[in-house]
Amino acid sequence: MKKHNFYAGPSILPQFTIDETIKAIKDFAGTGLSLMEISHRSKEFVAVMDEATALFKELLNIPEGYSVIFLGGGASLQFAMLPYNLMKSKAAYLNTGEWASKAIKEAKNFGEVVEVASSKEKTFNYIPKDYKVPQDVDYFHITTNNTIYGTEIRKDLEVGVPLVADMSSDIFSRPMDVSKYAVIYGGAQKNLAPAGVTFVIIRNDMLGKTGRTIPTMLNYQTHIDKESMFNTPPVVPVYAALQTLKWLKAQGGVAAIEKINIRKANLLYDEIDRNPMFKGTVAKEDRSLMNICFVMNQGFEAHEKDFLTFASERGLIGLKGHRSTGGFRASTYNALPEESVKALVNAMQEFEKIKA
Ligand SMILES: *Cc1c(COP(=O)(O)O)cnc(C)c1O
Repeated sequence: MKKHNFYAGPSILPQFTIDETIKAIKDFAGTGLSLMEISHRSKEFVAVMDEATALFKELLNIPEGYSVIFLGGGASLQFAMLPYNLMKSKAAYLNTGEWASKAIKEAKNFGEVVEVASSKEKTFNYIPKDYKVPQDVDYFHITTNNTIYGTEIRKDLEVGVPLVADMSSDIFSRPMDVSKYAVIYGGAQKNLAPAGVTFVIIRNDMLGKTGRTIPTMLNYQTHIDKESMFNTPPVVPVYAALQTLKWLKAQGGVAAIEKINIRKANLLYDEIDRNPMFKGTVAKEDRSLMNICFVMNQGFEAHEKDFLTFASERGLIGLKGHRSTGGFRASTYNALPEESVKALVNAMQEFEKIKA
């Protein structure tokens, strides 16, 4: 049976990425050796890193004066590495979910944190908008897509101080103006690659200002100077990321994929709003294009488990909501085909016919 993969992360990758990575694991670049057993300093792998970095910059239209680096440790390490490198004394954070809360907790190890607004009192079901960013902070941190709750900031904000964004789950989902950001980071396992690699985009002039001694491995400058090769990079995830970037370019890049992402999300949100058995969980104007959260409507709560079983019998996998929210979450990342969304909508309609 065809499987439709709605997992939130690690999550669906283009078939192209999987096929090309398998080939390289068997015989990398005609070397007769596996990608897993070759020196990261071989000219063949250095070429992979160079191409991945260049294509990353090309697809996001990253201006001069920025570096792109690939690291280990996940987005979670960035919660600490970022303030370590950027916070002199004070930073502002917008609290829009569990990941934002974790970022705030780590930042407090390095100075004063101003939480400008939080939607915690409403289970993070909207993005706060009435807040002021203090102008004396070193940076303002946002989480553009709240993977667990299904809200998203799809505009590039203007805040008057350096803007930093965790884009783990919506990087490459839309065109954006990178010049509005000082740093963008994320784990790659949502929209780009298998787990194991983290990307960081940094405006170079942000670095070297804290006066603090930073351990070598945690210093962004180390990895910029050594072009992500200070130590052994996660070679297989980097190789896979390059394949996804090539695939994305062949789809027409971020502008083309955004159109498809909007179409996919609208298909599903329209059904959630139409079908009397289901309802959405977040403010409509803040709905994410990447993680679509919904629950059983009032009176149908008892059918939640049934629906998950019904869906999995139709090959619809990974729809269970996060353990902190319950309900359902359909992740509709770049690589998820439109047919998969249609299959989910059909299942919701069939379920309605049987049960409502
Ligand atoms: C998944 C996720 C993280 C955590 O990423 P790890 O790579 O597991 O550390 C952080 N932020 C957001 C928005 C995420 O979706």
